[in-house]
Amino acid sequence: MSKVHNFSAGPCILPQEVLQQASEAVINFNNLDLSLIEISHRSKDFIEVMETAQSLVKELLGVPEGYEVLFLQGGASLGFLKVPYNFMKAGGSAAYVDTGTWASNAMKEAQKVGDVIEVASSADKNYSYIPSNYPIPGEADYLHITTNNTIYGTQLKKFPISRIPVIADMSSDIFSQRINVSNFDMIYAGAQKNMGPAGTTVYIVKKSALGKTGRTIPTMLDLETHIKKESMFNTPPVFAIYVSMLTLQWLKKNGGVEWIEKVNQDKADLLYNEIDNNPLFVGVANPADRSNMNATFILTNEELKDEFDKMWQSANISGIKGHRSVGGYRASMYNALPLESVQVLVDVMKEFGQKFG
Ligand SMILES: *Cc1c(COP(=O)(O)O)cnc(C)c1O
Repeated sequence: MSKVHNFSAGPCILPQEVLQQASEAVINFNNLDLSLIEISHRSKDFIEVMETAQSLVKELLGVPEGYEVLFLQGGASLGFLKVPYNFMKAGGSAAYVDTGTWASNAMKEAQKVGDVIEVASSADKNYSYIPSNYPIPGEADYLHITTNNTIYGTQLKKFPISRIPVIADMSSDIFSQRINVSNFDMIYAGAQKNMGPAGTTVYIVKKSALGKTGRTIPTMLDLETHIKKESMFNTPPVFAIYVSMLTLQWLKKNGGVEWIEKVNQDKADLLYNEIDNNPLFVGVANPADRSNMNATFILTNEELKDEFDKMWQSANISGIKGHRSVGGYRASMYNALPLESVQVLVDVMKEFGQKFG
């Protein structure tokens, strides 16, 4: 285990053994005496990486027949544009739930393509809660949700029941818990929060939902382009896909999503319990909507900031400074962060409480 406890929100911690394997492959991949990043993406060795990564996604999430797994570039942010292009009919509309910066960025991109209906928003309380009980317009082509709001520390605990197709940005909680893929027409996620390095974005898309918009889609934005070419229409981000494959192998070897879901719950319980019981801290997100991935909290006495910062820094904790739009602290507890790291943070918080409480 690394000596640094890495709570970074993204790019974020990856398993130490994955970093080791990745660094070896950069020098000598598969005993070819060539680097992973200097061979053709159409070579047998790389095609095997792509196929393994795709089949691990299918296996780990129980992806049903009829869905395709793609590894593309552009980040989730380009996904914000691919969604309306591929799913919103010409002259149609789409429904969006505004639960944070990323959700609202997704909405802004869709507005460039067609009509957007904002069905609910938590902007009134700086996105500290997840809206519920909103009507979903039956005439919209799809409902777009963001399952985990990385910046604000909120997470959907149950997905909306919808008669129209649901599309989800799962960038910061994919592979963290079991999901039923068949409830979604598409799931997409940037790799760098819970799956690998920045540079690739995974799309899990129901094939029968495509090709129905009646609009002209630019080649690179058209998901059918990439399905036809098996994610190799142009040069894929080979390194990011390789490291994602290693991370998924690591997840599978340890017990898969069912295993990590329990670990993630234990980590979140440990930290939120301390936030709630330590009078020097207060959680930012509405307790019922708290994220198991990103915990946001602030000090009850801002004057103690320097003292607390000194303490966690000397415990080798890194990356817990809050996002500028929330302030305070944000501890991101993605899959690769061990429970022991959360324990170190909680111990520091306890000690801080004893000293200054
Ligand atoms: C980080 C993040 C994004 C942006 O991802 P990029 O890959 O940087 O474009 C989008 N949505 C969510 C939920 C995120 O956490």
